[in-house]
Amino acid sequence: MTPKVNLLDFSREALAAFFAERGEKPFRARQTLRWIHQRLVDRIDAMSDLAKATRAALAIDTEIRAPAVVRDTTAADGTRKWLLDVGGANAIETVYIPEDDRGTLCISSQAGCALDCAFCSTGKQGFNRNLSSGEIIAQLWLANRALLADGVTAPWVEHGRHPITNVVMMGMGEPLANFDNVVTAMRLMLDDDAYGLSRRRVTLSTSGLVPWIDRLRAECPVALAVSLHAPNDALRDALVPINRKHPLSELLAACLRYIERAPRDFVTFEYVMLDGVNDTPAQARELVALVRDVPCKFNLIPFNPFPNTEFRTSPRRAILAFQSVLQDAGLVATIRKTRGEDIDAACGQLAGQVQDRTKRRWQRIHHAVTPS
Ligand code: SAH
Ligand code: SF4
Repeated sequence: MTPKVNLLDFSREALAAFFAERGEKPFRARQTLRWIHQRLVDRIDAMSDLAKATRAALAIDTEIRAPAVVRDTTAADGTRKWLLDVGGANAIETVYIPEDDRGTLCISSQAGCALDCAFCSTGKQGFNRNLSSGEIIAQLWLANRALLADGVTAPWVEHGRHPITNVVMMGMGEPLANFDNVVTAMRLMLDDDAYGLSRRRVTLSTSGLVPWIDRLRAECPVALAVSLHAPNDALRDALVPINRKHPLSELLAACLRYIERAPRDFVTFEYVMLDGVNDTPAQARELVALVRDVPCKFNLIPFNPFPNTEFRTSPRRAILAFQSVLQDAGLVATIRKTRGEDIDAACGQLAGQVQDRTKRRWQRIHHAVTPS
């Protein structure tokens, strides 16, 4: 039996083409989009403004199929993590971070990651495959549904909006290495007939795939975060191996180009604080000089440990001293609050379950992350 077509996999355009092929009116696509992504239904049958015959025909060969939830854990601070089965013994993680004025969802883009950054639990697991656009958008669909079903309270929910108001592409994987599927899913996040999020409320974080930063700027300019982590190429080569292919000068130039089209007038630089590795005041000064020409904000991330890592988190006073150097130079630098630590949901702790197919030799993979 051929599996049913999964409607979560469709972009707006693909849905329109699908309905046209079946001889249905074009506006059916819009109606369906709204049922799935605005009203979050999981059954064709529930789409009550579609003719009964249309629904019956659709139900024969299509369905709304999200990955199964394997585990659903809530931390003491309200952070909630879902482990989702994406087949082939792979599982990915999605994290909800509640705050007073927003609900943020941290979404995964790949099962594992081939880029093998030294301090990242996902990277240490190796890489299995890209997630489909359906598997990416399903994380938002699932989280909104689960939170509504559990009676989440927030002022905007009372006004009929979805619980998730912000998305960060900062879960497992390098989103720009799965460009097409990530862009398809992000366009649904932005679509007024789907999730209707503004481009400022969708942030993509990349370790620095320079050619793809330019494509993102052209095709779907959302807010950009760049994982910097080091003030010079020698150290960044060791911490973020993709730097050997796209060094800092190229990366910073791409950031400058991006800002011309971006929904925000700055790039967020993420900087993980590793004890004795990249956290001295001298390195902070080197960083200030490095980013001199780029409108940016810094987000300092205390390193989140995971089993068998050689790194330690910088002591609080080192992080504060580092922050002061940046601030004294006129830069905005915040320290990221660690959330969901007790359920291993903090940045870089997401491990899921990955059947590594790369033996972590990112050098062999890197051609796969270069656009043709
Ligand atoms: N692949 C993308 C997005 C996912 S990682 C990227 O690298 O940007 C999201 C952020 O968490 C990145 O800035 C990443 O460097 C950081 N991170 C990875 N491992 C971490 C850890 N153990 N502790 C703190 N932050 C970590
Ligand atoms: Fe991949 Fe990002 Fe982890 Fe690096 S930090 S291994 S790019 S997920």
